[in-house]
Amino acid sequence: MNDQTTVQTTCPYCGVGCGISAQVSEQNHQVNISGDKTHPANFGRLCSKGSALGETVELKGRLLQPRIYGRNASWTEALDLVAGSFINIIAKYGPDAVAIYGSGQLLTEDYYVANKLMKGFIGSGNMDTNSRLCMSSSVAGHKRAFGSDTVPGCYDDYEQAEMIILIGSNTAWCHPVSFQRIQAAKDANPALKIIVIDPRRTASCDIADLHLPIAIGSDTILFNGLLHFLGQQNALNQAYIDAHTEGFPQALKAASISSPTIEQVAAQCKVNIEDLQCFYRWFADHEKVMSLYSQGVNQSSSGTDKVNAIINCHIATGRIGHPGMGPFSLTGQPNAMGGREVGGLCHQLAAHMDFSNNADIERVSRFWNTHAIARKPGFAAVELFDAIYDGKVKAVWIMGTNPAVSMPNANKVIQALQLCDFVVVSDCIANTDTTALAHVLLPAQGWSEKDGTVTNSERRISRQRALFSPAGRAKPDWWIITQIARRMGFEQAFDYQTASEIFREHAALSGFENNAEQGLRDFDISALANISQHDYDHLQPIQWPVNQAYPQGRARLFDDGQFFTASGKARFIPIEPRPPVNLPDKDYPLILNTGRLRDQWHTMTRTAIAAKLNQHKPEPFLEVHPVDAQQYALLPSTLAVIESRWGSMIARVQITDSQQQGCLFVPMHWTEQYASQGRMGALVNPVVDPVSKQPESKHTPVRVRAYQPVWQGFILSRRELNVTKAEYWVKIKGEQFYRYELAGETLPEDWHGYVRKNPAITADEINPQWQEYQDSGNGNYRAALIVDNQLETIIFISADSPLPERAWLTSLFVKPQLETRERMALLTGMPPLGVPDTGIIVCACFNVGEKTIQAAIREKGLKTHQEVGRCLKAGTNCGSCVPEIKALL
Ligand code: SF4
Repeated sequence: MNDQTTVQTTCPYCGVGCGISAQVSEQNHQVNISGDKTHPANFGRLCSKGSALGETVELKGRLLQPRIYGRNASWTEALDLVAGSFINIIAKYGPDAVAIYGSGQLLTEDYYVANKLMKGFIGSGNMDTNSRLCMSSSVAGHKRAFGSDTVPGCYDDYEQAEMIILIGSNTAWCHPVSFQRIQAAKDANPALKIIVIDPRRTASCDIADLHLPIAIGSDTILFNGLLHFLGQQNALNQAYIDAHTEGFPQALKAASISSPTIEQVAAQCKVNIEDLQCFYRWFADHEKVMSLYSQGVNQSSSGTDKVNAIINCHIATGRIGHPGMGPFSLTGQPNAMGGREVGGLCHQLAAHMDFSNNADIERVSRFWNTHAIARKPGFAAVELFDAIYDGKVKAVWIMGTNPAVSMPNANKVIQALQLCDFVVVSDCIANTDTTALAHVLLPAQGWSEKDGTVTNSERRISRQRALFSPAGRAKPDWWIITQIARRMGFEQAFDYQTASEIFREHAALSGFENNAEQGLRDFDISALANISQHDYDHLQPIQWPVNQAYPQGRARLFDDGQFFTASGKARFIPIEPRPPVNLPDKDYPLILNTGRLRDQWHTMTRTAIAAKLNQHKPEPFLEVHPVDAQQYALLPSTLAVIESRWGSMIARVQITDSQQQGCLFVPMHWTEQYASQGRMGALVNPVVDPVSKQPESKHTPVRVRAYQPVWQGFILSRRELNVTKAEYWVKIKGEQFYRYELAGETLPEDWHGYVRKNPAITADEINPQWQEYQDSGNGNYRAALIVDNQLETIIFISADSPLPERAWLTSLFVKPQLETRERMALLTGMPPLGVPDTGIIVCACFNVGEKTIQAAIREKGLKTHQEVGRCLKAGTNCGSCVPEIKALL
């Protein structure tokens, strides 16, 4: 390909914010992805998701032009309709009758203008974002302790730490490149202690010196206990406490009341007392301690208190702001931090200013030159969809997110959007559970077309650069927003022609009335306020603040002991532990925990396009402890119904002692586009933290029972089929095939007739050749359709006997011609003698299966994951599967 260019951009998935080097062929609409070796977030590493980005840029499934009530429309018509409808609703019901619900997928420039429109010119606080579900407890905890939403440290601290604590974070799967970096740090320095605090034994425990499987929700007791222990052991930094903090006596008293003895903490957290003592002792003995935390801390009805309980321990020991130490919130989304910078949460205003003080409101009002500025927070995410349901909010504009799946009590969210007068969705994907509910669809540019900036977990601003020309009529989000703003009468304030103009204004606002030497506000990138288009185009990753005092950025804050509170001191927050709001009871006796998988992202709108990312965990599944499995009569690989007071789902049973007894785990990703009954959001209770308003997604009382369909089966087909008549179905895209896992409650009398007369299954090709086996007596049916000696479709249905594994059958779709022995073996579902069965895929990068790895370990005596890597290549690219290879070893 001679039209290749190399573009440096940023991964659109998690908050690690890895730099990508993309070799682009515009002509073929193809891109080769590799890690950017110069990017300080990843130094060339990428995880399985980032590595597979090249497979996600196809145009199939994209929303390519505006749609109004289901029909295609021009941009002019769609923009006029949206602006006109918002104007009419505001005129009739006031500005609080409209809302924007944004996303950590938006670029900072998009976010900035959306927020400016809603809060500055429409005059409502009703701009919130899916980051509310992700890290708003961290924002609230930072603000309480530091007076500002500041992440004090940076990734370089991983290599300098003596001890790293992963709290409520399966870093190995959710922030894989950070995990790899921590792993490398431990390899280089085996004395580096790694502690994992998590109710589940996750892949992150692979490198842990100590795993504390605490009871869900007991984090505040644990860290209060630590603070009390540090006090008892004279392990506090009294000089630091005296000079740089306030409120210590109250926090220590609260800690001593809630966690008076190690024995009581161990009992309440349900952990081994020796392990607990070890953790406390290690914390006391190591100066350079990092506490990395994520959704297990944030997604809780006491999430803010959990954050502050952790921060309390760091400021009590002065372990903040210096190399190798500090509390560190790992953000979930690529631009969750950028959203925070511009004020994407409904209580924020802009540039780390918020509605809590009038001076901020007046300042932003002056800067934006508006008299219409909102003066109070709007609805936070859960409140917002309740307000839509109740008819208080009559028009909502959803940008780049899928609340019909991801919100708690998601069935009510669907009802709310069905009841809403006017729903606008801007997205790059045509068919999502949320776009199905929209009155107007606006085609936004996708990752490979967007141009702007994002900020990662360590405050590093990076450029996301366009690789391709926009697909169809897709437009940048900032363009769509400014076009509507202009039509609403705000031409002058939204007269931007480029993303860089918006960035300059955003940077200027950050420095507006903000002294650079001893700023009022932490977020200050005023040194970039006059950046030229050329310099913006070539902007290298840089950590804020970027101002007169720190023109090259600043790796760490608070090294000077100065905080952004009124007194300049860090605040201790006294923590009184509270149990989760909804506790298990006799009707719903189990606790449901939810989370991310290694190879999927959010609601799968992009990752499910990449065949290799669907092999690791192809179906929604339920992790259950062996004792619970026995009690509820759940067998491995069968289906189970999980029910809460809010909804239900069906998932494939995985029995594992990595789960605690009494707790279940389901992944968060499946939608109605990929599974009939896999939406975990339908079950999750809508309880929120009273301070941060973040939902309690990790703790919902549920019950579980075996799902007993009359028949089960699967179809593998070269073509996409419509199988939605089955009560249970899951669609999985593979390499040149689609896989459908099926189960039904009514057995057709005649599978032969059903299949052969079904145009959705039967190919139109000339000379189709069928192999078929039917046993009507017991409802078993097998059929294979062969066209031009290639496998076109294969079907296995069973009412009573086990189904064959899928790995060998799926491997046949990439074969140009079937061998005779393969044709003969098709309906057995088993590879012919001498052909190995790979088993489920462990290494997505090199497509290496579990059985292949097991055989190599057995036959070649492999002892380490490095030896497996040398033998099979498995685990040698992104490294995300190394913990699983180690488990097999
Ligand atoms: S760790 Fe993976 S998903 Fe996260 S930014 Fe890096 S490559 Fe992307």
